[in-house]
Amino acid sequence: MTEVAADANGLNLKDWRFSIDGEGIAWAIFDREGESMNSLGRRAIEELGEIIGRVKAEARAHKIRGLVIMSGKERGFIVGADIREFETFTSEQDVITALKPVNELFERIEKLPIPVVAAIHGVCVGGGLELILACNYRIATRDDSTRVGFPEVKLGIFPGFNGTARSIKQGGPMAAMQLMLTGGMVRANVAKAQGFIDQLVGSAGELHWAARKAVLQNRRSKSAGAAKMLLTKWPARGLLAAKIRQETAKKVREDHYPAPFRLIDLFEKYGGDLTAMKREETKAFAPLMMSDTSKNLRRVFRLTELLKGQAPKGFKWRPSRVHVIGAGTMGADIAGVCVASGMEVTLQDISPEQLEKGIKAQGKLFARKFKTKATRDAAKARLIADPEGKGVSRADVIIEAIVERLDIKQKLFADLETKVKPGAVLATNTSSLKLEDIAAPMKDPGRLIGLHFFSPVPQMPLVEVVRGADTHDDEVKKGAAFVTAIDKFPLITKDVPGFLVNKVLTPYMFAAMNRLEQGEDKEKIDEAARTFGMPMGPIELADNVGLDICAHVAKILGQPSEGSRLDRLVASGRLGKKTGEGFYVWKDGKPVRSDKKYPKAELELLGQELVAPMIVEAQNSLDEGVVESADLIDAGMIFGTGFAPFRGGPLHYKKSMDAQKPRLATQAAAAE
Ligand code: NAD
Repeated sequence: MTEVAADANGLNLKDWRFSIDGEGIAWAIFDREGESMNSLGRRAIEELGEIIGRVKAEARAHKIRGLVIMSGKERGFIVGADIREFETFTSEQDVITALKPVNELFERIEKLPIPVVAAIHGVCVGGGLELILACNYRIATRDDSTRVGFPEVKLGIFPGFNGTARSIKQGGPMAAMQLMLTGGMVRANVAKAQGFIDQLVGSAGELHWAARKAVLQNRRSKSAGAAKMLLTKWPARGLLAAKIRQETAKKVREDHYPAPFRLIDLFEKYGGDLTAMKREETKAFAPLMMSDTSKNLRRVFRLTELLKGQAPKGFKWRPSRVHVIGAGTMGADIAGVCVASGMEVTLQDISPEQLEKGIKAQGKLFARKFKTKATRDAAKARLIADPEGKGVSRADVIIEAIVERLDIKQKLFADLETKVKPGAVLATNTSSLKLEDIAAPMKDPGRLIGLHFFSPVPQMPLVEVVRGADTHDDEVKKGAAFVTAIDKFPLITKDVPGFLVNKVLTPYMFAAMNRLEQGEDKEKIDEAARTFGMPMGPIELADNVGLDICAHVAKILGQPSEGSRLDRLVASGRLGKKTGEGFYVWKDGKPVRSDKKYPKAELELLGQELVAPMIVEAQNSLDEGVVESADLIDAGMIFGTGFAPFRGGPLHYKKSMDAQKPRLATQAAAAE
């Protein structure tokens, strides 16, 4: 095979490699310079344009028989467009101008007179999936890492490289719209069944040969069959659009997340004419890209990178064995999540029943996480009941999640310190006790860190890594590295009451309860918070957390609750969801609400008033240095509580509201 020398052939490639082999097959290998992953940045697109120009000329001269597009990265095919470049757009016109050459290029690829085969191993999403959909034939490995999807909606947009029309052409509107609207990824076998992939091979090693054969045999993909495409015809298309609009509205609100609804509109209007759909896609895409929602969701994506950056780089320590003490609500799920990340876990509890129950409960998580019986069985075998605590001496990380009592935790850690191996991490999941108090009887109190998980552990992406006054730096680093190893986001916080998340959340919860005390309807309070963008209202949240726990937190954070409705409910044993009644009566796991409707403007105003105390406390936490930066506070609140992601976090929201004030004042003055 001859690598084409850059200058001699007029190709000047940095992100791609290009060669033509002895059989006349051209190979374009995407290997973005200086990056561990391939993303379709401007330069990569331009270079692909050069390659296609060259391929076209060679094909016309009958010198090549086909083109294969592959990735040169060890892991991953293409992770999408380069979202860093999105921030350079200053107007909708900028977006349209940037999309035009990409769409023209993909069109040129589609129309090449020779077969173009995409050979995929690893993640192929967003713009990457749009590129392969413009090829004539797609081969993917069956490997578990090979996934395709359209994550664009998570960034407040939808596919913009004409993937809306091409995915419908390939998979039919049902599968394509589902893929675009959910933002999830599917495995290669599912993608094949849906028509997005044409052929599967066992491993990456087989791709090259299979791609060669596909070119030599001039294989072409079949578009979705007539039965699937019937749904693009009127009136079926209108009915389908109405149905998916209804389903989508159950999951997200149009005023908060417009992208899915604009995609459904696009399909409804133009889904019967895919050429028109391609053209209209760009028009509908540009305003979404410039919207505050998309900007804030892109910010959330950057915040995830920031949180991952809390873990040390180039750190050699790799935890593989974990010992969890306490198999209750938290401990059992913490153990399950560690096992799901490939670790071996010993789980200890003084109650054999609790231990058995805690282990059994993880079956659900393993069933979700592991698709084959063999991997599920292997996970079960990695979760070991250990009533006597034999695993302590072998564990890399020991996590305590027992009752919230200082004397018992103190005794436990003083004892653990004598049993653990050197270098092992000692962590408490306490939510209200001070680390230095727990560690006081230890010989080396600097060994103790907090690993504060949120409930429900499998769903909540954040873990606060708490640094006590005496905690050694290395232990904090190991804590953050461990959290990343179990696929969660670490947030290093100071040891202040409530750490970051509960410190900022609690004033909001109590302000809401005060409103209730003053006679506001609980339904109105909760609806107002959801109107603002919270996943759940504060009163319903209090019932979910448990009113006893809320009262306890109130005490620790100095919130007066004496004589309040909260205290009265706790005293009467009505503790919320777990007892069937709290602020709400609970039936079948759901709160029973009145169906009273409230005016939108009132809900919007109340929503803003409700979050105000949270914003004040977020600012206080920044001033007190609870975490290192305003962005980390926003990240903590988004990933620890679900704070409206499309608003970019409490401090970012404050900033944007402050920026709007002069404009609103001018408008008000003009109106007078
Ligand atoms: P839980 O009552 O559900 O479970 C505690 C378990 O610890 C029980 O199974 C009990 O049998 C066991 N246990 C008690 N003493 C023990 C000992 N000496 N040795 C071994 N096992 C013992 O409690 P939980 O809600 O899982 O909370 C555990 C810890 O996590 C507490 O410190 C709590 O503050 C903290 N936390 C709880 C939440 C939450 O939402 N529940 C969130 C964050 C942190």
